[in-house]
Amino acid sequence: MYLKRSITRLYIIKGQEVREQKLSGVIINEQNTISYSNSVAEENKFSTHRKKANTEEQCLRLDEMILDIKTPIWTGDIDSKSNLLKSTGIMGSIRWWVEAILRGMDNFACDPIDDNPKSLTKRCPTTKENNREISQYCSACLIFGATGMRKLFRLRTEGGYEIFNGKSINIMPKGRTRGWYLGSGLGGEINLDIISLDKNFDKSLISVPLAIAAKLGAIGARAQNGYGIVELKEFPEIKIEDFKNSVSKITDTARLAKLKIDVRKEVRQENYISLPNIKEMFFAKIQFEADNGWWKEVDGIEERGQMGDRDYYEGYSNDARMRKWIDSGSVPIVPAIKNWLRYNHGKSLWQTENQNEDRIIDKWLFGTMRNDKTASKVIVSCAYPVSNNTWEFRVWGWIPKNDLPNGFDRERFLDNLKESLSKDNPIKVQWSKLFGKKTENHNLKIWREYNSLRDTLKQSESNIDNYLKSILGERREFNKT
Ligand SMILES: [Zn+2]
Repeated sequence: MYLKRSITRLYIIKGQEVREQKLSGVIINEQNTISYSNSVAEENKFSTHRKKANTEEQCLRLDEMILDIKTPIWTGDIDSKSNLLKSTGIMGSIRWWVEAILRGMDNFACDPIDDNPKSLTKRCPTTKENNREISQYCSACLIFGATGMRKLFRLRTEGGYEIFNGKSINIMPKGRTRGWYLGSGLGGEINLDIISLDKNFDKSLISVPLAIAAKLGAIGARAQNGYGIVELKEFPEIKIEDFKNSVSKITDTARLAKLKIDVRKEVRQENYISLPNIKEMFFAKIQFEADNGWWKEVDGIEERGQMGDRDYYEGYSNDARMRKWIDSGSVPIVPAIKNWLRYNHGKSLWQTENQNEDRIIDKWLFGTMRNDKTASKVIVSCAYPVSNNTWEFRVWGWIPKNDLPNGFDRERFLDNLKESLSKDNPIKVQWSKLFGKKTENHNLKIWREYNSLRDTLKQSESNIDNYLKSILGERREFNKT
């Protein structure tokens, strides 16, 4: 018998409808019959309501996670009436992380936005070569759903507040005429309710990708503009083992035979698949010390020139929207760093001797601002405080090992990037020009990369399970700093 005390909400799904009930005790027995009462004291008299769970009406388990937002979560699809974050953006990014992890475990995951019928990685379902009746789904689609396949869980988000109202902020670091646009986002704290829709669902399928994203990457859309750094509060125990076991359960042959479907196996040309894979990702954290008000001197935020001059730039240190962003706890440094990396001295990290090649590498590496489809492979976060006067930001991303543009040297670029972010580096970052004179002691805190000499915690760890375990296990160490 499964007993959960003090549950406040119970979801009963009838088709798409979710009913919410205030309950304090829920009892679920092995036959999936559920009983509930209005107080724990009444648990023993649970004859008030009794429902048989069947295909139409199922009893669902509810798990809750709390995300503490460090840098705004992008809310392009914010509901302007309720100001509530739609769960779709979070769902999409959790799926992105799950796919990257699955591919790292040599488990095929399709590209859910690829509808080219000739593509080897096109979205599911595909059909079996000799039996067109049997649809095939990859592990990610078996979890997150696809045409003809119901997802195993739902997400519901609650909480948070909109950082500012009105137009996006257009930040233009020195030398730029278009710059970067920062829309409002969501700050504060959000509750993430995970509602299981299937007995094979396990919360590790959500908690593992969320934990990895929280520790090293970001969640939600527009991470490339610095959004989506979160900390997981109310942290459940998270094990990579549980995640692996859940995936095996979901892809179990007997289960799939019952559903009259088949698991989609990896294609032979896997080495050439150009889709995000955690084995090809890198994660850096950089820390620095800063005096109060340092953000006013960040390139793109600071005023430039004299009012009335042709090239006068007002900056944003007196802008109400920017002040609200700062008050929410982070500083948008992304334009300053990206400007350095794409157009100034940082170019030497990836530049070739051929301008035509450089143009292609630039677009490939940093994406195009107008088209989200050409996603940036190098992602920079906003800066957020980690302790008194100590701030941190992340530089991370996915640099594939195959199908590289002509002239681009992956290893050279990553070596250069790591060195330039470290103290006493040969390729100096002019931090005072980027972040202003109130910041100092910028230094690389950590670099994580699978099977790489660059990794600062587990050099050349070639066992993917051990590598992921080391990522999940490092939370305590970080809280100390
Ligand atoms: Zn798929």
